[in-house]
Amino acid sequence: MDEPPQLGLPELAFAGRSNVGKSSAINRLLNSNKAARVSKTPGRTQAINLFEVEERCVFADLPGYGFAKVPQEVKKKWHGMIEGYLSQRDVLKLVVVLVDIRRKPQELDANMIWWVRQARIPLLVVATKMDKVSRNQAASSVATIRKAFALKKSECVSFSALSGVGVDEIWEVLNKAAAGELQA
Ligand code: GDP
Repeated sequence: MDEPPQLGLPELAFAGRSNVGKSSAINRLLNSNKAARVSKTPGRTQAINLFEVEERCVFADLPGYGFAKVPQEVKKKWHGMIEGYLSQRDVLKLVVVLVDIRRKPQELDANMIWWVRQARIPLLVVATKMDKVSRNQAASSVATIRKAFALKKSECVSFSALSGVGVDEIWEVLNKAAAGELQA
């Protein structure tokens, strides 16, 4: 539960419901199968895992939320850890919230987004598993997500860890954020 170590680099955090595809997204963005553990048991990671990226920035993999079988006690700890991290981490330049493109906008994601806004940290919502829907469905889902979470156009990207679609667009935002060029 301690604060993660300070690495003196801009930090970009990744959040999302358990099983949304966060580990797969991190792996795809880092072009590696080793960087983030892809866990078979949803909700397993309860720590904030840091990955240094080319001495340029740090990816912070936040523990997934919304796993039904997690006891109340663990949920409380999760809240404390996330709230502390978002409000006190000076090097934090962006929070990426991953959502499943096939699902209706979820309350837990809305809560997460609210916290990010509250902490005045730039936000990017990544609608993942795009390969599972048609182009039309993807476009309509993204429109729904944008509206539900009151996102600017630039704050929502569709993505697939499987095909790699959206990787360049996401990296563009990550690079801007790491350079301190994004406003909350
Ligand atoms: P995490 O719990 O959020 O880290 O989710 P994982 O990365 O472990 O992914 C959960 C499941 O979704 C795994 O079975 C992945 O293979 C699958 N998955 C993740 N991303 C994608 C994607 O973009 N497309 C498809 N089709 N499956 C995905």
